[in-house]
Amino acid sequence: MNGILTDKVIVVMGVANQRSIAWGCVQAILAQGGTPVLTYQNERLKKSIQRFVPEDIQLVACDVAEDAAIQQAFQQIGERYGNIDGVIHAIAYADPETLKQGLVETRRTGYNLAQEISAYSFIAVARYARPWLTKPASLITLTYFGATRAIPNYNMMGVAKAALESSVRYLATDLGTEQIRVNAISAGAVKTLAVTGIKGHGDLLKMSTSLTVYQQSVTTSEIGNVAAFLLSDLSTGMTGDILYVDKGVHLM
Ligand code: NAD
Repeated sequence: MNGILTDKVIVVMGVANQRSIAWGCVQAILAQGGTPVLTYQNERLKKSIQRFVPEDIQLVACDVAEDAAIQQAFQQIGERYGNIDGVIHAIAYADPETLKQGLVETRRTGYNLAQEISAYSFIAVARYARPWLTKPASLITLTYFGATRAIPNYNMMGVAKAALESSVRYLATDLGTEQIRVNAISAGAVKTLAVTGIKGHGDLLKMSTSLTVYQQSVTTSEIGNVAAFLLSDLSTGMTGDILYVDKGVHLM
């Protein structure tokens, strides 16, 4: 079909199941005529996503804890498709022990792990995707309001998201002359696997819904549609931005 992503190859990192924000992005890419390529963290997740991902979508291993794995994944995708038009980075992790404590109790190892997987990995993705990126190209990451406000129980993940949002601005500046745009979507709270790692996530989800402008959570499909716009040439004028897709929660 023809759509705003026709002929574009988009790497989507972070599908764990059908509730994942990344899966909402895959649906939107397909609806707009794009070709998604999915990366997965490990063999266990590969087996589980193979149950619902159509067979003609390529799956590539990529644990972002290893620079070599990121480099290899982009090399494999680049060699297969010749070029890459966009990347969605929908990946975050903090160990449960670190997440359930206030920031003041965060230890060095927990801090480093959360930063490495949730923020540094986006920088490494930009670096290893770069040789294969078209002009124009678009890189997107996923962030949350807890980067700029002290949201109860978000703790260390808020600090990692603040680093991620800052990285968006510096990467946009570094890569701008190559027509590579870098933006983030700050999504409203959605019930996914990642959210269940946050203490009191039920309350967080309820609070977030109650603060939307019409008491309904944003959906992964709504987030995916904004991602499709950011990946498309309709948004070539935008870079270094954080776009809220949260049905107005950030206004309240
Ligand atoms: P999810 O659990 O479906 O996705 C998280 C993904 O991160 C998983 O696919 C997991 O495999 C991947 N991941 C973790 N460690 C990895 C590693 N070492 N290597 C490769 N992949 C790894 O949850 P989600 O909510 O869809 O999360 C996607 C992104 O959206 C995250 O950055 C999250 O912080 C962000 N976000 C989520 C919400 C929300 O309410 N769900 C709101 C705003 C932002």
